[in-house]
Amino acid sequence: MKVAIAGAGGRMGRTLIEAVLADREFVLACAFDVPGSPAVGQEVGNIRIGSDPKAAAAADVLIDFTRPEGTLENLRHARAMVIGTTGFSQSQKKAIEEAAKRLPMVMAANFAVGVNAAYKLAETAARILGDGYDVEIIEAHHRFKKDAPSGTALALAEPIAKALKRSLDAAGVCGRKGIVGERTKEEIGLLSVRAGDIVGEHTVIFGGLGERIEFIHRAQSRETFARGALRAAVWLAKQKKGLYSMQDVLEL
Ligand code: NAD
Repeated sequence: MKVAIAGAGGRMGRTLIEAVLADREFVLACAFDVPGSPAVGQEVGNIRIGSDPKAAAAADVLIDFTRPEGTLENLRHARAMVIGTTGFSQSQKKAIEEAAKRLPMVMAANFAVGVNAAYKLAETAARILGDGYDVEIIEAHHRFKKDAPSGTALALAEPIAKALKRSLDAAGVCGRKGIVGERTKEEIGLLSVRAGDIVGEHTVIFGGLGERIEFIHRAQSRETFARGALRAAVWLAKQKKGLYSMQDVLEL
């Protein structure tokens, strides 16, 4: 399978290039970053990192872990796309849905298989515990992360909100400061920690009176995201146009 990598100079781009080069199932067809990036011109495998997204048209699939504006530009040139970028606005998400009418895409805020299992655990716990338990999600990432709360924290909160018949837009509370009053029963807290080189940690707390459940997912290296993204790319090759999730890939 011929793979193109966008954001080739980034943390995820570099990890993806290594994963593609290490696996005989894949051929690195092209890799690119923005013009002016120090990665442009570097040799990786048998190719040089370029700066023209049009090169993605030569690959079976484009894997994009960049920035929302980058993803929206890059999807104009891809035949199929795996999107790992996070931090899209509602209108940017609409543009992606529109593009999925002409090409197959998998989009996930987190490609780690364990995190996708955690989404199911979160939903099941919320369904069993109901309104008597306060839900708080704490996420921690490296100091370079641009968006907050993380896409994964929001993706964990969504199935919980749905199971509790709440709207995340109304119930989500991102951080607290000052005299905010007692916690309401409905709110779902989302707290962000940024420090050092933390790859990604998500803790979900269901706090009741007299007991609490907590579960934690820790990503120990970016390899787990790259492996998940490549698994999605292989699955995508057999799909028709449309927008799919990692839950579809894993048949959860
Ligand atoms: P990074 O800043 O290290 O890398 C991003 C790279 O994209 C940079 O090299 C940048 O120059 C490049 N870029 C920006 N605009 C571009 C464009 N138009 N075309 C090509 N390249 C462009 O960031 P990162 O840590 O690698 O993360 C990238 C994105 O992936 C973020 O949104 C992050 O939240 C997300 N992410 C998702 C997952 C997941 O599993 N879905 C995992 C890790 C990171």
